[in-house]
Amino acid sequence: MTNPLKDNIQEVLVTSEQIKAKAKELGAQIAKDYEGKDLLIICVLKGALPFMADLIREIDHPLAIDFMAVSSYGDATTSSGAVMILKDLETNINGRNVLIVEDIIDTGLTLKYLIENLQARKPASLKICTLLDKPERRKVDIRVDYKGFTIPDAFVVGYGLDFAELYRNLPDVCILKPEAYENN
Ligand code: 5GP
Repeated sequence: MTNPLKDNIQEVLVTSEQIKAKAKELGAQIAKDYEGKDLLIICVLKGALPFMADLIREIDHPLAIDFMAVSSYGDATTSSGAVMILKDLETNINGRNVLIVEDIIDTGLTLKYLIENLQARKPASLKICTLLDKPERRKVDIRVDYKGFTIPDAFVVGYGLDFAELYRNLPDVCILKPEAYENN
């Protein structure tokens, strides 16, 4: 039987079970670190949405959420380096303890821009949590406070991550077969 969603998967890199366990671990650490402090979680759309949704339910601490959307990859698999805010926050973050939740840090250019932009709004603190990290491809230095998994230099999809807006609903983080890109 063919499965139009899963037939193009070459390899599962991180399973949903591994992500679930990691979200639990990170959530407990975050709850501990923010004890006695307010917490505002910023989800970077669209890729970080599933991770953020799972992570916040593992944080046993009062928190608020907000969303930002920035341009990074178009439909290509390489970063342009150009960053643009597509959707801004609804919250004034001045004096707040802010935690950015990202899906993946690749070159770091998107996050560098985001950090500078948000720092200018004078939060009390600004920390970074990412599900995935591809350190081999880093172009700028980024201090990551909470990290899920370090992965090799490969283009991944699933659990929020897309190729041409598809595959975000895969439960695992996967590498696609080369023909998946050619057919698109
Ligand atoms: P950076 O600015 O760090 O190079 O890229 C960050 C953004 O690029 C991520 O938030 C994500 O949207 C996208 N990106 C980077 N690597 C991958 C990847 O392997 N797969 C997918 N689907 N998106 C990626």
